[in-house]
Order: sequence, then structure tokens, then C-alpha cells
Amino acid sequence: MTAAGALRGILFDLDGVIYNAERPIAGAVETVEWVHAQGIPHLFLTNTTSRCRAALSEKLAALGIRAAEQEILTPAAAAAEWLRTAPAGPIALFVRQSARREFAGLPCLPDDAEDGAAYVVVGDLGELWDFRTLNRAFRLLHSNPKAELIALGMTRYWLAPDGISLDAAPFVAALKHATGRQELLFGKPAARFLQTAAGRLGLDAGQVLMIGDDIEADVGGAQTAGLKGALVKTGKFRPAIWKGPSGPMRFSIPWPPCPPGGPGREPPAREVAPAVRRAQTGTAQGRPAAPPWTRRCPGIWPPAAAFACEGAGAHPGTARSRRIREARSSSR
Ligand SMILES: [Mg+2]
Repeated sequence: MTAAGALRGILFDLDGVIYNAERPIAGAVETVEWVHAQGIPHLFLTNTTSRCRAALSEKLAALGIRAAEQEILTPAAAAAEWLRTAPAGPIALFVRQSARREFAGLPCLPDDAEDGAAYVVVGDLGELWDFRTLNRAFRLLHSNPKAELIALGMTRYWLAPDGISLDAAPFVAALKHATGRQELLFGKPAARFLQTAAGRLGLDAGQVLMIGDDIEADVGGAQTAGLKGALVKTGKFRPAIWKGPSGPMRFSIPWPPCPPGGPGREPPAREVAPAVRRAQTGTAQGRPAAPPWTRRCPGIWPPAAAFACEGAGAHPGTARSRRIREARSSSR
């Protein structure tokens, strides 16, 4: 096995991986349950700025996924944490109401302020964006050349209930273009954000797999930050964005921390995420032989594998994964 064998933790994107808007994605809940039951360190890492972590925790609970606020990392939470230690100054927020909770206790300007900001925080305002609002953000930046433009993620678009929709990045790009200002980025694909998430798992970046539906922000960002990236075929994924070699790649995670049967036995590898990776990174691997765990337990197919492979179909796997399993059984 390659360096992928050193994987010990997982970061799950939310939108497009666990759910599409309000609808859970088939297999996602079972996958997270399985990961939780195996004791694999994991965290939910999302660029969502439309809700605070408490609201995301409630949403996940409604789907049947237990996740405390501390198990969710959002750009708003990371930015607020940073602002609490940065030089104090007035903050202008361009985030939805429910995300404002993360900034509680910080000196925020009124919603009609057009100057006086030391920090201008821009997230996904969705349909609340209009010329006047975007122009107000521009005026706040223009009136103070030292004001910091803080971007909550640079996701270009996402799959909204009514179709593909603009996210925060196009609006941040407009402000950058108008002011010549460079943004301070919190959220994917910022390496600092992904590495912070890995650090919260107590792991090195190279030991963590990021699973997402955005080949740039999730997979590209993870690979640039030293993590592994796995692309699922759900959410915003479209076949046209994947130009790499056909067929899924496979990762395995050593059984932590001590293999069943005690030390000294060969740790069975668990197949976790057949994943598509960007060929241009030069890290794509050929499909390895079935790991020892699969050979010993032919009847079990972790839902994580089926989920990451096909993005559809709950345990015991999709039609494709069942065919693979049957082929393995018959060749044994
Ligand atoms: Mg996503």
C-alpha cells in the first residue's frame, strides 16, 4: 500500500456529501454511523456560511447523525476565532442572520454602515445579495485602505434546492477586483483551514482524507494542504468535471490503534474510500489488490466504500459494489 495506508482520519464535507440542501444523500448516514462505530477520528468541514454550527448540528441530528458543535468546523467559526485574537476593530458582517451567532461578543457595525470597518467579512448571502449590499461592502473597503477583506470560503457555486447557484467566491472576486484588495481566506480551499481541521483530529495533514463533492475546494484544496482528497459523485459533481483515468482509486486505513487479537497480529486494513483523485497531482495510484481485511471478510462491505464509490445506495452497497464483492467471492 502507498502513503494512503497512513490515513487515520476523515473530514466530511456536508452539502453534496451528506445531504443535498434538506435531503439526505443515500448511504451518507450509514457511512457516518460506520465511521463513528469504528472509532475513526472525523470532523465535518463545510464552507456553509448560511447557518451557525448549532443549526448545522440540529440539521444533522434531524438526519440521524450525531455531531456536536465542536465536531463541525465552518469558515465563520474559524474567522470568529481568529478575530477574537486579532487587533480589535469594528467588523462589518455580510453573512446570513443564522451565521451571526458565531460572531457574538465581537464589535460588529450596524447593517447600514458604509465606513468605519477594520474587517469586512463576506460569506454566502444567497438571494440577499443585491447591488446596494455589494456596493456597501465595496464602500466599507474603499473608505479604509487598511480594512481587511475576510472571505468565508472561496466556493464558486453549490447545488441549491432550485439548481446550481452562486456561492461566496464570485462576490469576493467582485470586491477584490473593485478594490485591488487581497482576501484573507477562511474555509476551503485555504490550506490553513484544512490543516486546522486535521490538527483538531490530533493528526498530521498527511494522515487525513477529505471527502467532498467539489474537485477544487475539497479535493484540490486538500491535496495542496498535504491531505488526501476523495471526490464523491454526488452534489455538484458532474461527469464533465472529471477528466482523469476511469475507475475508482482505493484507500485503506490501518485498524486503530491495536488490531483485534492484540499486538503482533497483522492489522487488517479497512477499505474506506474508493476515491477519484486528480490525475494532474501525480498522486493517482493504480487499483491495488483487495486488502487483507476484504479477503478475510468477504461478506462485509463497509457502507463508506459504497458511499464514496458511487455516492448512492446504502449498506450493503450499490449494485456496482455488490458486483465487485461477488466477483471477489467467486474468485476465492
Ligand atoms: Mg460540497
